[in-house]
Amino acid sequence: MKPKIWLSSPHMCGNEITYIKEAFDSNWVAPLGPNVNGFENDIQSYLNEDIHVAALASGTSALHLSLILLGVGTGDEVICQSKTFSASANPIVYQGATPVFVDSEKDTWNLCPEQLEIAIKDRIDKGTKPKAIIAVHLYGMPYKVDEINIVAERYNIPVVEDSAESLGSLYKGSKCGTFGAYSILSFNGNKIITTSGGGALVTKTKETKEKAVFLATQARDDAPHYLHSHIGYNYRMSNIVAGIGRGQMTILDSHVEKRRSNHELYSNALKDNVKITFLKEPEGYFSNRWLSCILLDSKKTREGLRLALEKENIESRPLWKPMHQQPVFKDAPRYLNGVSDDLFEKGLCLPSGSNLTDIELDRVISAINTYFAV
Ligand SMILES: *Cc1c(COP(=O)(O)O)cnc(C)c1O
Repeated sequence: MKPKIWLSSPHMCGNEITYIKEAFDSNWVAPLGPNVNGFENDIQSYLNEDIHVAALASGTSALHLSLILLGVGTGDEVICQSKTFSASANPIVYQGATPVFVDSEKDTWNLCPEQLEIAIKDRIDKGTKPKAIIAVHLYGMPYKVDEINIVAERYNIPVVEDSAESLGSLYKGSKCGTFGAYSILSFNGNKIITTSGGGALVTKTKETKEKAVFLATQARDDAPHYLHSHIGYNYRMSNIVAGIGRGQMTILDSHVEKRRSNHELYSNALKDNVKITFLKEPEGYFSNRWLSCILLDSKKTREGLRLALEKENIESRPLWKPMHQQPVFKDAPRYLNGVSDDLFEKGLCLPSGSNLTDIELDRVISAINTYFAV
């Protein structure tokens, strides 16, 4: 059996261990310490905007806190892009609210501004104005930020920007992770940088960041004993994990470059195959190309190719199965145009890691060519 080629695996650079060692040497082995503050500052300067960052246990916990900070509670409705990973939608349910799923458009595969407005109007007609909108930059491709914001502002509904897959992506020159009322990042094992597991909440003010950290550390009021006037959570990032993050931040740009070059290599090598298409960057969009995705001409070809790659010990994966198709969300309201269903049938994510070698990339391309040659 040839060695396994993964979809997207962790890629350490060596600097991580320096920060971890510092944490050990100074005995900051806790969910606070210099690496946590340092990592937050690193992200803040990278995003290069007037924002504040709270390092947390996961992207999911960041989404959960953003909904709490927006006051989402029992009986509320929250609009969520249907084509996404379940972690975008689950925190809505944690809050006792109902997710309302909205379909994608074809240019970026993300939240469709027209469907979004149809959904908002219909929910208002039915008696409940949505409390928030969760928009996702899927696979690193920015969503239509201006168009979504226009609709959101027209109805005065805050946007939560799920930037879990898009650290290093840009929209009209500004970094993804800075566009929402709240934005979230993820550093899970397969993301563009990883801390093994972790995430961050990006806020617009120092006060909201402090409130997030307060809730993330069990909501301890200012008193010598343990005093609580809020329900708290154990959502803070540990100082060890943040050390990995500090190391990873030093090579983020080169990871983005490598992922983009993977995508370019695939699209050049496969450009003459009429059964394969790639998602282009619209003018003003810069994707980190977290995952290189292709669309095949049919579900049959997509599944055939996936199995052919599997035989070669190459991991690939269909695009996210839309949330409105998930059994757990079968009763959730939905506003559909067919785009996300079609993408799910025809789309496949190819190995995309920043640690892929030329030999591995050649193996993937040959396996694809062989599949179409027979
Ligand atoms: C990974 C991911 C999340 C969740 O992040 P975790 O750190 O794994 O909790 C949320 N949304 C999207 C789109 C993701 O890809």
